[in-house]
Formats: sequence, structure tokens, C-alpha cells
Amino acid sequence: PSTRRWLFADQLGPHFLDSPKQPVLLIESRDVFRRKRFHRRKAHLVLSALRHRAAELGDRAVFVTADTYADGLREADAGRLSVCDPTSWRARRLVRRLPDVEVLASRGFVVSEAQFAGWAERRARKRLLMEDFYRDVRRQHSVLVNADGTPVGGEWNYDGENREAPPKQERLDVREPWWPTEDDIDEEVRADLDRMVRDDGVEFSGEDGPRRFAVTRSEALRALRHFLTHRLGQFGTYEDAMLAGDRWMAHSMLSVPLNLGLLDPLEVARRAEDHGRKNSERLASVEGFIRQVIGWRSYVWHLHWHLGEDYKQRNALQARTPLPAWFADLDADAVGANCLSGVLRDVREDGWTHHIPRLMVLGNWALQHSYDPQELSDWFWANFVDGYDWVMTSNVVGMSQHADHGVLATKPYVSGGAYIDRMSDYCKGCRYDPKKRVGDDACPFTAGYWNFLHGHREQLEGNRRMAQPLRGLDRLRDLDALLEQEAGRGADAP
Ligand code: SF4
Repeated sequence: PSTRRWLFADQLGPHFLDSPKQPVLLIESRDVFRRKRFHRRKAHLVLSALRHRAAELGDRAVFVTADTYADGLREADAGRLSVCDPTSWRARRLVRRLPDVEVLASRGFVVSEAQFAGWAERRARKRLLMEDFYRDVRRQHSVLVNADGTPVGGEWNYDGENREAPPKQERLDVREPWWPTEDDIDEEVRADLDRMVRDDGVEFSGEDGPRRFAVTRSEALRALRHFLTHRLGQFGTYEDAMLAGDRWMAHSMLSVPLNLGLLDPLEVARRAEDHGRKNSERLASVEGFIRQVIGWRSYVWHLHWHLGEDYKQRNALQARTPLPAWFADLDADAVGANCLSGVLRDVREDGWTHHIPRLMVLGNWALQHSYDPQELSDWFWANFVDGYDWVMTSNVVGMSQHADHGVLATKPYVSGGAYIDRMSDYCKGCRYDPKKRVGDDACPFTAGYWNFLHGHREQLEGNRRMAQPLRGLDRLRDLDALLEQEAGRGADAP
């Protein structure tokens, strides 16, 4: 018989077990909520998922609640254990210290860590580009690949067709997302979280509300089916656009069950491909979705380990401003800038926004204002329902804040109000004017953009992709007034 498998709360799917009958250990550790202030919705999802799994497994699982994992292990007294390599540096250190625990290779990604290390080594001094990684994964697993090895449709990447500005309407014409129905376990979790706040001094950020995401395998499969049937076809066209009144647009919201380990990414990609072929769905949408699931998600996972634990400390632009309270506390009401206020409200209410508000509103603002990248990464981790350290480190420190000086992205993701105006409907309801950079109605993103270029001119000068923006900076006649205006802004909410 196989050893008892210790499952962490993000290893809940069947692919983390060797057989359907394998005995299981689940530990609910409270310590984590004292160490970090998490979004209330995120705490709810993780506890709900863990408890649902324990209920499903019944007698096959030993389930203990304890302050720490070490206490939980002592209490469970479950004998020899095996565990799939966990998803944080801290947990990896812990499982390696324990004498009776066999640590297996991690699961839940399309290639193993050993395969990725081999791939990175073969590339020698070449950049580890996501696009190269993604194409190799597609070839290796024959996803959207013809029998002769060419990509379906003739192209590997249809991103160029997926960058439409939003339509002139408040919401996309697309079927509403699948919503779960809460049960007794959710009620119990809610009561326990209330008790933690009341009796243990635990603090959460954000608001409570109905559960929005799948926490069991069967819910995750239902959410996947619903997305494929009703939303996938429209996913791609507007995937980079934002609508103030439509937080979900045509996004899948499957990152939560994927990151809880309830769905296997390859299974998701194959189902999407199969559905797309049988129903003649728009190829750019199918490919764009598959790229997120087996491309980008896997790539940032592997970079997290490949780049090492120190990567998170990188701070190439020497950004050291602590997150101001209004930002850290999701105080959308303190913010006048319509885009930033709207996105903070989305996060406060649901702990979720899609990737563009994260990158082009929250990340862009933080970059322009030199927020500490490590603190920002931890903030994303704690406040997003799909956030984990492995997700956020490369995405925030590398992609969004350029703190690695170009390992992940060839240029900083910084933009002025014109980009937000083109890709959203936020500006029409805003007190600021995206075209203005100086004055009472100057858009804080537009002014912040030029201020950023000026402040980081030396670091950006060697970057060919920044040559044109820097030439634009040279042509500004009102730069002095702009710099004075921005210096006076301090850490105030815009
Ligand atoms: Fe955001 Fe500027 Fe547009 Fe206002 S005008 S919504 S601050 S980009």
C-alpha cells in the first residue's frame, strides 16, 4: 500500500495522489493568518477548499487543525508520509527538515522542474523566453499542433488578434460566469473567520461576500465546462480591455481552482482544444486561453524556482517607497482617479481583477511611484484570491516592476493615461483628463509616466525599446512644471 500522502491546501486534486484509495493527511494551520494579513475572500477559499476535500475523503483522511504544521504533524501522529514538493520556499524547507517525510517531485504543471532545468541549460546564454518555452510545451504535449509538427492555423501565437479596445457598452455580451452555491462548510468557515477576528486578533483585508470561485473538483469541472461552453469564444478579443462596470468580462476565473490544485493544466488545455475544434470556436481565443494555462502559468512557476529565493529581493530601480495606507488597505473611496479607484474596489470586494488591471493600473501606478517591489509582491499575494508567492514573485518583481532589470520583460510595463483611455471606459467618468499632464485636471497616470521616465532616465537609456519614449521626454516643454507637480504629490491618493 502507498504511504499516506500529506496534501497542502493547494494540492487538492486527484493528480496529487498515486491512487484513488491512497490515505491522506490534511493539516489546517492557523499560523499563516497571524503572519500575514490576507484578503478575507482568500482565507475563505483556502479553508473552504481544504475542508471540502477532507469531507470528500471521509475516513481516508486524517484531518487536523493546529496552530502550525509541526503541531499538526505531532497531533496527527500519522506515521511515514510522502508529500509532493510544496509551492513555497518556506514549506519546502519545512518538509525537508522532517525525518519521516519523503519529498516527491512537484506536480500540477505541464513540465517537471527537472525538465525545465534541462531546457534552461540547453538554452545556455540565450534568454529564457516565455514564447520559446510555450512552443516547446505545445510540441511536447501535442497541444494545438498538427501531425506534421506545425501549429494549428499556421501561427503559434494569435496575441495580435486579442488586443481589441472594449466595445462601447457597459458590459460584454457574454453569458454570466458560473457561480457556486455555498453550503454548510462555507457557513462554518465564515463563522470561524469571524471568530478569529473577534477572539484571536487576526486581521483580514477586503470584504466578505458570496463565494465566487470553485473549491472542489466537481465545482472546478463545472466552472470549466461552463466557461468552455459559454465564454471561451469571446475570451480573447477583449482579454486586454477593461470595463468599469464589468469586472469579469469573458475571463475564465479558473486561476483559483488551478492554483488550489483542483484542475490539472494539461487537462484544461486539452479540453479547451477539443471544445474549440468541435465547436469551431475562434482560434485566437482558444490559443490565447491555452497560452495562459500551459504557457505563462507554467513559465512563472518554473522561473520562481530557477531564479532562486534571492530573486524576490531584486530592486534594480531602487524603488523603496512603502505602500501607502490607502493602497495597502484597498481604500478605493480615498482615490479620485477613476481607474485606480475602480480597480481597488474590485479587489476590495472580490480579491480579483483580471491581468490588465493588475498590470496596467495597479502595477503601473506602483512602478511610477517607486513602491517597494517585494512589499508589493507580498501585497498581491495576500490580496488576490489566486495569489501565491510563486505566482506573484516573477509577475510582480519581474514583469510588472522591472526590478530584475529585464530578466522577464524587455522593458518596464509603464504607460500614461492614453493607454488606459484606449483600453477601458474609465476615463470618461473621471475627474482627470488623460491627455493633460500638468494642472488641476492632469491625469496622474500621464504625469506619473513622464516623471518615471525622467527619474529613471539613466537606467533606461541603454534599452532600445525605451529610445522613443525618452525622445518624447526630451521634447516636453513643461517638464519642470510637471516635475514640481509630481514632487508635491507625495504618497497621497490621486
Ligand atoms: Fe485613470 Fe487618468 Fe483615465 Fe482618470 S483620466 S481614469 S486617472 S487614466
